Amino acid sequence: MEKFPNKSIYPITMNINSRGHLEIGGCSTVELASKFGTPLYIIDEDTLRTSIKNYKQEFSSRYTNSLVLYGSKAFTCEAVCHILQEEELGIDVVSGGELYLALKTGFNPSKIYFNGNNKSQEELVLAVENNIGGVIVDNLYELELLNQIAISKSKNCSILLRITPGIECHTHEYIKTGQIDSKFGFDLTQVNDVIEKIKTRYRSLKLEGLHAHIGSQIFELNSYADLVNIMLKLYKEIKTKYGIEFTKMNVGGGIGIKYIEKDDPPGIDAAADIITKTINESSKTLGINKPMLLLEPGRSIVGTAGITIYQIGSTKEVPGIRKYISINGGMADNPRPAMYKAIYTACIANKMLEKNKDVVTVAGRFCESGDILIKDIELAQPVSGDILAVFCTGAYNYSMSGNYNLVPKPACVLVKDGNADIIIERETYQSIISLNHVPSRLLKYKNTSLNK
Ligand code: PLP
Repeated sequence: MEKFPNKSIYPITMNINSRGHLEIGGCSTVELASKFGTPLYIIDEDTLRTSIKNYKQEFSSRYTNSLVLYGSKAFTCEAVCHILQEEELGIDVVSGGELYLALKTGFNPSKIYFNGNNKSQEELVLAVENNIGGVIVDNLYELELLNQIAISKSKNCSILLRITPGIECHTHEYIKTGQIDSKFGFDLTQVNDVIEKIKTRYRSLKLEGLHAHIGSQIFELNSYADLVNIMLKLYKEIKTKYGIEFTKMNVGGGIGIKYIEKDDPPGIDAAADIITKTINESSKTLGINKPMLLLEPGRSIVGTAGITIYQIGSTKEVPGIRKYISINGGMADNPRPAMYKAIYTACIANKMLEKNKDVVTVAGRFCESGDILIKDIELAQPVSGDILAVFCTGAYNYSMSGNYNLVPKPACVLVKDGNADIIIERETYQSIISLNHVPSRLLKYKNTSLNK
């Protein structure tokens, strides 16, 4: 078994029981389907905690002054926030909603960092009032707004500046470009000007360092070494020019996971090695103090811990071309295939020992031709009523889900040692229209009392 869950497609507790059914966290997924219904997101607590512990262990053993902030945009809810706190992680939020959840679940505010390219006044007020660890300022508009808020609340607010370092990452390779066309952050030519402004005008803001996030689903670790070198060179220039010695450096998230057999992401040990070695060497060469290291991994912490189960309904054979099997979910609970052409691994959860296989295309139930979850996958002769399990859906599935076609969002259960607990309830028809209103002038028809 792989030591690092991000290097495996399957959760660490995956098993096949004596009935040939897929088990996760000691629970039969077939029984989970009948108890909680489908589609159903399942999070394996052991895999999640193992990934968290890996990060903590691999980074803190090499670099004491480090803090892993979970990139909560990947997947967050109250239960996940409680696990993160038990495991002593920090958290990276990108909206008022994520910030509210972190604060509400009792996160130590000093371990909360706030990213985003267009934070609202209301969101920044929440951050300032609660003295969070740092606001990662993305642009001049935000700098001005945040300073005004800090003054009005008589607070000093710790900030990092998000920069676009000129490194562009794709899954398997990366390029260094002079100028990156990105909506996020300050480009390197703006940094001096921004620092001047902070020094002279924005006195309620305490600038502690720089932040960069170079992409997601990254396999190429040299891109992180380049990033650290670029950032520390800037630290040196800023120290020389302004006498400011930065105490923090945030290198973002992005480490990839294995979605399909041919993916070969790096282990967290290799990532920790290259990042911390580069900081040690570069800061020594440049003659600057080593900053506190912050990281924001999301996918590589929660991705492999999640699977989604669906029920197969209709099937359609286009003779000589393709067989479609339709499931009772799709692009609204997992938008990644439609958005990014993401590819997933799946199996028939109630036929794990079946040898005969068919090549089929898994179609979603949403009213779009593009709602295809997996194209041309070999599955154990799927028929209506079978349970399809899709792996590695822990990250950017629930968090990106929506109510397209007014389909209620699935429930989410946390499994561990044979127990399954609901951590997010299934939406209902009632709950998804609960915020609707009808102007009184249109109230000609009496609502029926359908209960669903
Ligand atoms: N930090 C920032 C600023 C991001 O935009 C993202 C995701 O895009 C992350 C962290 C988490 O990235 P990942 O889930 O790839 O680790």
